[in-house]
Amino acid sequence: MAQRRITILGVAVDNLAEGEVLARIAALIAAGGPHHVVTVNPEFVIEAQANPTFRSVLARADIATADGFGLLLAARYLGTPLRGRVTGVELTLRLAELAAARGYRMFLLGAAPGVAAATAAGLQARYPGLIIAGTYAGSPQLRHEPFIRQVITAARPHMLLVAYGHPQQDLWIARNQPTLQVPLAIGVGGTFDYLSGRVRRAPAYIRRLGLEWAYRLARQPDRWRRIINAVPRFAWRVIAQGRRASRYP
Ligand code: UDP
Repeated sequence: MAQRRITILGVAVDNLAEGEVLARIAALIAAGGPHHVVTVNPEFVIEAQANPTFRSVLARADIATADGFGLLLAARYLGTPLRGRVTGVELTLRLAELAAARGYRMFLLGAAPGVAAATAAGLQARYPGLIIAGTYAGSPQLRHEPFIRQVITAARPHMLLVAYGHPQQDLWIARNQPTLQVPLAIGVGGTFDYLSGRVRRAPAYIRRLGLEWAYRLARQPDRWRRIINAVPRFAWRVIAQGRRASRYP
């Protein structure tokens, strides 16, 4: 049987297909209480190596999805293959579908001004009946937190999607969930940029080939520095972990 949780460089990722992630999220919301879902990619893993607070936030998450082709390659190399990718974009669409079906209220926080609102409008057109509790760009800076908490508390969402990029979005959720108590809070990275059409997604065949990162680089050259920092380091450390594991099985 496939392993349920896989650890890549000390960061746990749930080995769940998209439908299973959704079923678990639906169960978490029905159970009540605050929950946190993280969408892990190789840059998260590299950040977690140097940032103990982020590492412990990831470890405490209720669900950690594998969002990033690099994670699939790493998991296969380490002998614990993942079933597939669950991207922030796909998950957001499925969450909107679930919310529309069950009457859950969704709040979209983050991205540049206007982007969350455009995303919300697109989701409502796609899933009639979807209730958007609110949208707000705001900022992940500490001094803005009290005001943003007030806005979200007044909107009473069941789902809070936070697009502040990593690690800020998940640190933000971890700091604010004790007060907010939103049934589902999830960090979604650049998802609103894609869903609003602000940034074009790679065509499906490029995504299938696992080359979305190259497409993003070509369109958003400012990502080079981040990718150059994260990708070789991630690959090198995964290879080192694999060697250690084969030496001391
Ligand atoms: N963002 C934001 N405020 C900030 C930093 C980032 O709203 O102070 C948004 C940004 O507009 C983008 C998202 O966070 O929509 C980050 O997207 P990216 O693709 O960089 O996410 P990551 O790769 O970090 O998951």
